[in-house]
Amino acid sequence: MRLSRLHFKTLREVPKEAEIPSHILLLRAGMIKKTAAGIYTYMPMGWRTVRKIENIVREEMDAKGAQEIRTSVLQPGELWEESGRWSAYGPEMWRLNDRNDRGFCLGPTAEEVFTDIIRGDVTSYKQLPLSIYQISNKFRDEARPRFGMMRSRDFIMKDNYSFDRDEEGLDQSYEDMYEAYTNVFTRCGLTFRPVEADPGAIGGNNSHEFTALCEYGESEIAYCESCDMAATVEKAECLDDPAQDDVEMLPLEKKHTPGTKTIEAVAEYLDLPTEKTIKALLFVTYDEEGNEAGYVAAFVRGDRELNMTKLANILDINQYAIEFADEEKMAAKTGCVGGFTGPMGLHDCTIVVDSELPGQKNLCAGACEADHHYINMNYGRDYEGDIVADIKNLQEGDRCPRCGGVIKHARGVEVGQIFKLGTKYSEPMGCVYKDENQKDHPIVMGCYGIGISRTFQAIIDMPENHDDNGIIWPMSVAPYHVIITLVKAGDEVQEKVASQIHDELEKAGVEVLLDDRKERPGVKFKDADLLGIPVAITVGRGAADGKVEYKLRAEDNKEEIGISEAIERAIAKVNAEKDGRHFFK
Ligand code: ATP
Ligand code: MG
Repeated sequence: MRLSRLHFKTLREVPKEAEIPSHILLLRAGMIKKTAAGIYTYMPMGWRTVRKIENIVREEMDAKGAQEIRTSVLQPGELWEESGRWSAYGPEMWRLNDRNDRGFCLGPTAEEVFTDIIRGDVTSYKQLPLSIYQISNKFRDEARPRFGMMRSRDFIMKDNYSFDRDEEGLDQSYEDMYEAYTNVFTRCGLTFRPVEADPGAIGGNNSHEFTALCEYGESEIAYCESCDMAATVEKAECLDDPAQDDVEMLPLEKKHTPGTKTIEAVAEYLDLPTEKTIKALLFVTYDEEGNEAGYVAAFVRGDRELNMTKLANILDINQYAIEFADEEKMAAKTGCVGGFTGPMGLHDCTIVVDSELPGQKNLCAGACEADHHYINMNYGRDYEGDIVADIKNLQEGDRCPRCGGVIKHARGVEVGQIFKLGTKYSEPMGCVYKDENQKDHPIVMGCYGIGISRTFQAIIDMPENHDDNGIIWPMSVAPYHVIITLVKAGDEVQEKVASQIHDELEKAGVEVLLDDRKERPGVKFKDADLLGIPVAITVGRGAADGKVEYKLRAEDNKEEIGISEAIERAIAKVNAEKDGRHFFK
């Protein structure tokens, strides 16, 4: 392909809205273009890479016996009514009506549609197991679309659904997908870690996220240095500090603590460590119509952080249906006092107490009275919770809940997630099979997603896949394998040599770009680096003596070598790495 014919435009300036390397570089390299907030167009070179990622995904899915289909992005609301998610899915769903006022959505995922397809097709256990997938655009009206295609409102997702007779079958399907995902992300050149995850709105009881490790990621994971425990911070269980059974309860005492509205302030004022205090967090919840449903006061030890996912799960509500309360409004109803709220003296609200607090003695908490705290507050004697559960984050430095080792945190990008759904969809939607005795059973399902467009970006954010000058694509997903830079367009010898290399590489199945533009060499070299093509061959003055320059994008070293040697080396390099299997250890 001649660059002079390719539709592309690189930018010298860093676009204002871009904050992370992948977003900046994709825009600068002209591989994507913004259409609206959270909505992007893939330009020719970006689209080539996306198709390569899709094909790696296809190969690994097909290798596990999964079959590709394609459903419509338009999904009828009736199917979502059947599963109970039409009202439960929340504001991320793009809803629309047809001319007859029937409700539809632009599919954010497709559990319902796939369950509907299978319930019509499968009757007997003999037809199971089945695994079906699609690669298509998904739509979510994200509250905060950002980082380009990392969190966009229209994105490409591979979604796969497995259908088994029983839990054992599901375990096998899940394991197959776990392996396929490991292969996909390895072949794409990601450094990643599968971690235990919260199943969220999709449902089910067992889930892993595949997290590409990088500092720009929005996910935070907690892992143990001594054992293989690794989980998203939302999901990670905590080990409570040991109960202080042998500590004597001291008499409750009210203290005047003027102006001490934060844990740090009251701890300092009373000269207490923060782990001797109780932190209050106040929330309002909403029902399915969006009306206020009630108030919640959550309490954790002063040195802990509240975990919103755990709190929403224990209250059995969606995370979008709970938010921080307007303290004044809540005060009138429940008796809370901004900055001085404690678990004593609250009324008309649900009190959720972290599982660690009942075992801790003689704590300090707000007195629900301005400028006052209690000290020596004890669970059972002075206060109680409507719910007692683990609602805190596993923090860095905490002890591992499995082995007692030291917990570390890392950041990353969630590129895929796999779930055991069980019968969450098949039961309400009547997706059943008949066993050997003609008895009906709900089909046991799993679902498995990969964010193709997010993976596209996460690859670039890996530290080894970019530098100050641009992208460094792994061969397996590079838009082209080799770029030939013709230093002086119009020079007869150089043009001839460049064309010869181009043609021979193409004949050998190498995807090659020839930069034949009438631009200054400096501009061409800059663009080649920005585009991140793995192998660069420069045809300049040396061409007259049969010499060209050979350089890998990932390395600094340049070599002047013979034309045929350059061709041979390029072909060998491309063939060794183009399917990404060289990344397997
Ligand atoms: P997140 O927690 O990041 O919002 P999710 O858990 O809601 O994602 P899933 O429903 O598990 O996402 O979707 C499967 C995959 O699709 C995710 O692992 C992610 O890679 C990708 N994905 C989800 N939302 C987006 C988005 N708004 N933009 C790009 N990719 C997305
Ligand atoms: Mg997810």
